[in-house]
Amino acid sequence: MPADTVSVTGWGRTAPTVARLIRPRTYEEAAAAVRGCGARGAIPRGLGRAYGDAAQNAGGAVFDMTGLDRIHAIDADGGTVSCDAGVSLHRLMRVLLPLGWFVPVTPGTRQVTVGGAIGADIHGKNHHVSGAFSRHVLSLELLTADGEIRTVRRGTPLFDATTGGMGLTGVILTATVQLQPVQTSLMSVDTERARDLDDLMARLAATDDRYRYSVAWIDLVARGAATGRAVLTRGDHAPLEALREGTRARRDPLAFRPSRLPAPPAFLPEGLLNRRTVACFNELWYRRSPRARTGELQKLTAFFHPLDGVPHWNRIYGRGGFVQYQFVVGHGQEETLHRVVRHISEHRCPSFLAVLKRFGDADPGWLSFPVPGWTLALDIPAALPGLGALLDTLDEEVAAAGGRVYLAKDSRLRPELLAAMYPRLDAFRSLRAGLDPRGVFMSDLARRLAL
Ligand SMILES: Cc1cc2nc3c(=O)[nH]c(=O)nc-3n(C[C@H](O)[C@H](O)[C@H](O)COP(=O)(O)OP(=O)(O)OC[C@H]3O[C@@H](n4cnc5c(N)ncnc54)[C@H](O)[C@@H]3O)c2cc1C
Repeated sequence: MPADTVSVTGWGRTAPTVARLIRPRTYEEAAAAVRGCGARGAIPRGLGRAYGDAAQNAGGAVFDMTGLDRIHAIDADGGTVSCDAGVSLHRLMRVLLPLGWFVPVTPGTRQVTVGGAIGADIHGKNHHVSGAFSRHVLSLELLTADGEIRTVRRGTPLFDATTGGMGLTGVILTATVQLQPVQTSLMSVDTERARDLDDLMARLAATDDRYRYSVAWIDLVARGAATGRAVLTRGDHAPLEALREGTRARRDPLAFRPSRLPAPPAFLPEGLLNRRTVACFNELWYRRSPRARTGELQKLTAFFHPLDGVPHWNRIYGRGGFVQYQFVVGHGQEETLHRVVRHISEHRCPSFLAVLKRFGDADPGWLSFPVPGWTLALDIPAALPGLGALLDTLDEEVAAAGGRVYLAKDSRLRPELLAAMYPRLDAFRSLRAGLDPRGVFMSDLARRLAL
C-alpha cells in the first residue's frame, strides 16, 4: 500500500514528528498494514483533532482512517447508526438530522471521527446528563495486533480498555452507536453572566440538572475580583413548537446549515496574541453577552461548534503552536480549582476564554477522562515563558487532589504522575501486554507516558 513520509502533529501543532502515513481503503488493507507495520509500530488517526501527540508515531506508521468512511445502516425507528470509524460527526449530523436524530455526544468540534470519539472517549456539554461517548456505543469491531477483527461488546475488559484507550488496543473499524432524538436542528439557549468563579460555581451547582447541555466560558485574564467571571450558556434541543409558524425554520425544522467564515492568514505575526489583546477580546466578549436571557433560538452549530466556522483557527497561535491544558478534579476539591485558577492568573497567561464544566458519573473506560467534578480547559501559546514549570505545578496540584489531565489534549505530562491520575493504568498495561505482546500499536503519547 502506498505510504507517504510526512510530518504529523496534533491540533496544537506543538510536537511534530515524522512518520509513514498509510490510508487503508478496505478492512483487508488495514489488516495488511497492521501485519506489515514494522518495528516502530503503528497508531490509528482520525481527523487529528487531539491537541497533543496521541495520533502520531515518530519513525513508525500512522494509519489515516478517514479513507474508511461508509455508513452501513441506520435504524431510523430505533435511532442507531452502524458506520466505519473514519466517518466524521459532521457527516453523521448531515445524514441523521433530517431523520430526526443527533449524535449522543459532541465535542467542541464536529470535525472528529467516530474512531477518535471512542479512542479518546470524548465528552460534551451534556456529560452531566449523558456521560461520555462510550456510554452510547453498543458494539464495535476492532482490528487487533494479530491482524484479526474482533467484535467487542459493552461490559467486556476489551471494551473498557478500548474506550479511552487512545488507539492502543487496536484499530476500531466500525461502531454501532445509539442516537439522540430531536425535533429540530435549533437549540433553545439560556445565557447568564457570573461575576466571578464562586458565583459561577454556585450557579452551576444549583441549576445544572435543569439543562441537558451546559458550559461556562470563563475569563482567566481579568484581574483581581473579576478573575473567573463567566458567561454561562445552557440549553436543550428546541422542540418544534418553539419555532414560529410561517418561518423558514418551521418549514424545514431539521435543516443542517453550518456557517463558515474565511480562514485566517497562514500564520499571524508572532506577538499579536499577548495579554493585552486577549484581555481586550475577553472584556468585549463579556460586556456584549447578555446579563440574562432565556429561550434564545440558536443554530445547533453555533451552540456546539463556534470555532468550526473558522477553518484552521489553530494557526492564530503562530508557528510555535499552543497547548490546551484540561484537567478534572472531583467534587469537594473546589479549593484546588481555585488554586489552579490563581496560578494561571498570576502567570499572566494570555488565554482566550477558558471553559469550565461539571462532569456527571464516570464511564467504565480504564483511561476514560471524565470523573464527577469540575473540569477546566484553556489554550495557552506554547511559547509563553515559564509555561513548562507552570504546567508541572498544576499537574502536581491536580494529581494531589485525585484529579487527572486529559490525554487527548496532552503533549507534556510527566510519566510519574500518570498512575495517580488513572488508577486503572496497570490493568490497561497488562491487557495490552497480553493482546499486543510485540507492541504493534504505539504512539508518541504511549512512548512518552509508557502506556
Ligand atoms: C476545537 C476542538 C474542541 C474540542 N472539544 C472537545 C470536547 O469538548 N470534548 C472532548 O472530549 N474532546 C474535545 N476535543 C478533542 C477531540 O474531540 C478528541 O481529541 C478526538 O479524539 C479527536 O478525534 P479525531 O478523529 O480527530 O482523532 P485523532 O485526533 O486523529 O486521534 C485521537 C485519538 O483517537 C485514536 N483513534 C483515532 N481513530 C481511531 C480508530 N479508528 N481506532 C482506534 N483509535 C483511533 C488515535 O489513535 C488517538 O489516540 C476538541 C478538539 C478540538 C480541536
